Amino acid sequence: MNDGEVEESSGSVLAERRTNVEVSDKATAKAAASFQPEELDELLRLYYQRFFPFQLFYRWLNYGHINDRNFFGLREFCLTLKDDVYLRYQSFDNQAKMEERLRQKDPRVIPFKIDIGPIYSARITDTKLNPSIVPVERELIFDIDMTDYDEVRLCCSGADICGKCWPLMVLAIKIIHRVLTEDFGFQHIFWVFSGRRGVHCWVCDKKARSLKQAARSAIVEYLTMIKGGNVGKARRVQIQDSEHAAVAKALNLVRAYFLRHLVREQKIMESKKGLPKLLSMLEDETLIAKVKKTIDNTHGSEKRWNSLVEEVTQFVQEKKGTPEYRKVRNMLDEMQVQFCYPRLDVNVSHGLNHLLKSPFSIHPKTGRVCVPINPDFADSFNPFDVPTVKQLEHELNVAYDAAKNQMDISTPDDAIENKKVSPEVEAKKTSLKESIILFETFVRRLEASWKRQRDRAEDQKMEF
Ligand SMILES: [Zn+2]
Repeated sequence: MNDGEVEESSGSVLAERRTNVEVSDKATAKAAASFQPEELDELLRLYYQRFFPFQLFYRWLNYGHINDRNFFGLREFCLTLKDDVYLRYQSFDNQAKMEERLRQKDPRVIPFKIDIGPIYSARITDTKLNPSIVPVERELIFDIDMTDYDEVRLCCSGADICGKCWPLMVLAIKIIHRVLTEDFGFQHIFWVFSGRRGVHCWVCDKKARSLKQAARSAIVEYLTMIKGGNVGKARRVQIQDSEHAAVAKALNLVRAYFLRHLVREQKIMESKKGLPKLLSMLEDETLIAKVKKTIDNTHGSEKRWNSLVEEVTQFVQEKKGTPEYRKVRNMLDEMQVQFCYPRLDVNVSHGLNHLLKSPFSIHPKTGRVCVPINPDFADSFNPFDVPTVKQLEHELNVAYDAAKNQMDISTPDDAIENKKVSPEVEAKKTSLKESIILFETFVRRLEASWKRQRDRAEDQKMEF
């Protein structure tokens, strides 16, 4: 056999494999695309049976209260049933009770949406909350929604997202995650895809969960650069101190994002929608006219951006020593911040009793799972690759078909019936695998921190 033959035969094997992969990819994609909201109740029934990671979920939200059997039961859940029937103030004694409730077979009581509320001072059992029962503990949460970027998005608006605007969410994760870990020292942060057009952040450290409202507001304030102030002005951002370490770090991320995504990819400097908006943020009529003239004679978005930067830098230099200088010195950064800095919903974060969609629930409109996002690899997260509940069903059936001859169970239903597998195990046979592993890693790190705390407490007892 000569080299050519080897190459040819291995080449054809590869080609064959590729075709198989393509075929199965296409089948999966088709199954996913064909998700219809009308079939949601049946799909959800299967999802809670086969995929929802109850065990990890309980280990997370029980926060190591192994000797306090009541802790989990103090948590509010809000279940939304078919046709937007809201059941607030639901609670479950333990994992088994939660499983039992979510796995009820009657389609009229299957939750289409699961939201998580706070830990209350006493058990809530009624839909009308007793006024003496108050929220006492709550993860610090952030909700970042693409619709809040509508004033600056050049591609889509409303509930739509695309590959061009999704990087705004990635930037939000990077900026907020850095602040939470480096500036506030939080360690247990769980980022989750909202299932459609945004991301949620759960800060689960003990010190975050016990924060009072004022402290939560202060953290949100620290993270906020785009304020409601400067009403009526095109440039609403005012950076007082660009040398401040936290601001400087955020600005580095913002500038890199702006150049790559807005200047180069979306060609904002040639965009009919984006360019007028950007120019209006210069605010000074003479400067606007000057920049316009320069860029009219310049072709290409990046070249135009460079000439804008030059003009603005010169303008700012000339203002040095005048009272106006303070207002214009950071204008280049302020414009970029306004286009892409994270927009936070203050109301979600500052209170203790705001509800937030549960990780691993299903978005009822898209059918996609609210999967965790690894902040260290936020760039590679693609919301369009997130499996739908229908796709998972398809993948699990394929996995069982493939393993039929080696196992004594032939279908996912048999497995559940005989209690041979847990949803955590079943999910790993599908494209939910990475998400389950991320969740496991997050929960294990939390558990390790509780163990360290217990050990420390033991040590202290010994010392006295
Ligand atoms: Zn878009």
